[in-house]
Amino acid sequence: MRPQILFPLFAPVSSLKGVGPKILPLVEKLAGPLARDLLFLAPQGVIVRTAADAATARDGEVQTFTVRIDAHLPPHRPPAPYRIRAIDPTGFLFLTFFKGGGPHLLRQHPVGSDRIVSGKAERRGAELQIAHPDYMVAPERAADIPEVEPVYPATAGVTSRIVRKLVLEALERAPELPDWLDPAFAAREKFPHWREALAALHSPRSEADLMPQSVFRRRLAYDELFAHQLAMAERKSSRKAQPAAAIPASDISREAEAALPFSLTGAQIRSLAEIRGDIMSGERMSRLLQGDVGSGKTVVAMLAMADVAAAGRQSVLMAPTEILARQHFETLAAPLQSQGVNVVLLTGRDKGALRAEKLRGLASGETAVAVGTHALFQDDVSYRDLAFSVIDEQHRFGVADRRRLQDKGEAAHLLAMSATPIPRTLELTVYGDLDVSRLDEKPPGRTPVATRAVPMPRLPEIVARLKSAVDSGAQAFWICPLVAESEDSDLVAAEHRAASLKAMFGDKVGLIHGQLPNAEKDAMMARFVEGDLAVLVATTVVEVGVNVPNATIMVIEQAERFGLAQLHQLRGRVGRGSRESACVLLYDLPLGKTAEARIDILRKTDDGFLIAEKDLELRGGGDPLGLKQSGFPAYKLADPVAHRDLIATAADDARLVLSRDPQFKSPRGQAIQALRALFDWKPEGPDVG
Ligand code: ADP
Ligand code: MG
Repeated sequence: MRPQILFPLFAPVSSLKGVGPKILPLVEKLAGPLARDLLFLAPQGVIVRTAADAATARDGEVQTFTVRIDAHLPPHRPPAPYRIRAIDPTGFLFLTFFKGGGPHLLRQHPVGSDRIVSGKAERRGAELQIAHPDYMVAPERAADIPEVEPVYPATAGVTSRIVRKLVLEALERAPELPDWLDPAFAAREKFPHWREALAALHSPRSEADLMPQSVFRRRLAYDELFAHQLAMAERKSSRKAQPAAAIPASDISREAEAALPFSLTGAQIRSLAEIRGDIMSGERMSRLLQGDVGSGKTVVAMLAMADVAAAGRQSVLMAPTEILARQHFETLAAPLQSQGVNVVLLTGRDKGALRAEKLRGLASGETAVAVGTHALFQDDVSYRDLAFSVIDEQHRFGVADRRRLQDKGEAAHLLAMSATPIPRTLELTVYGDLDVSRLDEKPPGRTPVATRAVPMPRLPEIVARLKSAVDSGAQAFWICPLVAESEDSDLVAAEHRAASLKAMFGDKVGLIHGQLPNAEKDAMMARFVEGDLAVLVATTVVEVGVNVPNATIMVIEQAERFGLAQLHQLRGRVGRGSRESACVLLYDLPLGKTAEARIDILRKTDDGFLIAEKDLELRGGGDPLGLKQSGFPAYKLADPVAHRDLIATAADDARLVLSRDPQFKSPRGQAIQALRALFDWKPEGPDVG
């Protein structure tokens, strides 16, 4: 499928001049395995070499001087550097060589010769010097010194300049390609052609050319976003093309709904209708149900599962941890069983005869609904007719896991659930291959969580208040952040906090962190759920979805270090019962402006989508929401935040192209084939099978 014209770009980097076995692994690490990857390696900045003279040169800046070699000053004793004194009409410039000095310098730059010298000039006392000049050439070769030079990611052994040389060689292999963009759109955006944009990326005229909003960057970002959206749209349509069980709405489900002790929220009713529309269509569903912690996703899934059971087919609900699976089971089991639907809980804890019995029920079809963990897709588990799978906190599972579950059925409908609030503008980059339903309304009767920001010096006061709350039966989470690169030192902090709280609360304090084996995490969590522990100290590993209605206090230490969305999720673990809940954000002084603004937003709203959107505004770029962990794609040239205005256009464009020319046969379609080959998005990351 890859057009032949692109072959030189898809050759290994070792095919580039100068990439020998020594630097090959380094280059692969910096850029990637293919020449194409160097093409997409964006410079991190530029060096601008301004012309200067000795008298007015600025300290610490890269500058270019026109000089005459005045004297060679070899070191008296070896550890001292080799120096060359140069002169211009305004003064002296010393060129210093700590390494590689010697008589050859005298041959190369004899006394009296004219030289253009460029490098970082530094003032050492009265002397102006350049240590190891970047360039030192005769005037007729002045053109060798670029006035503006891009700086590339580099490592020991592969300098930015080596990378640049390789990049330029890769660029030579980049052919002129027919444009894949819609001409009217490209003209409106003033986008240069792809080849031209790439050339500009690698020969910036100033820092501004490298900014996300330069037309060159925007053009290249659009290409990448467009290629990605195309890949997702293709995936979506190929999934839809698979025929799947047509499952009508059922009395069983209606009765299960009527028997609930509450009525569904408007958002739940809407989402359920969307899911039903999908599963009765005869096309395979791939839908995401998005909603804050506590928004009632499980009930929606349950009612759809009831329809599936009524149609005589099976469904599974898979959760990332045993404790979550157990909670789902407790929510689903009674309402479904009272309608005559058999439900089973299957986790890693099931062993021996009991497990065999459960598996038998699934294989025979006697059991219509299975709730569980990874145990649901193990090799010896088989289903008679799995038609619907629900994956909770879907980003917590690897692609392979999700696929293994899907493979247990034939074109099973898929419902993914997530509590990670993603701003609408970014949703398409993460879930572009899914249809999305949102629970943007909380069940009634929730008391808002009173949120307060408290400076760390007032810790004793908070602990005293916590003590009186615990004495009257309350439970609290106490979150210690991940601060350092290594989890070890954070663990020490969390252990320290747990110890100091123990001194006050005795053995009613538990500690849970990422390095605990899963079984121990579950056990600790279970003790908290059962009320055996009053205070649970945790690093950020506490399960997003865990329901502990009795927990009413959330203390977050060093709250300024968390993202807004993360704070929101943490806070969402309290305020689940009808009792008043509190969230205390402890912060270290002094509090920065952004941190203050973030805490303020959190105090004013409890709407996860709004919070995510605001967080995005407050931060500039990079990975503002910790999205990488949520299956966010790793773009090379697009910045999903800075270029967010392009995302929706790219998605619309992709849909349109695919509906008009699904085989990419038209002239534009053929051009697009080259684009798809250039980016070759693999069905990784956000894919859900
Ligand atoms: P999520 O999975 O979205 O975090 P859950 O499905 O666990 O939320 O629901 C949280 C709690 O809210 C559960 O105890 C559930 O029974 C309850 N609940 C769900 N929907 C409603 C509703 N419409 N009205 C009142 N309570 C509800
Ligand atoms: Mg949940």
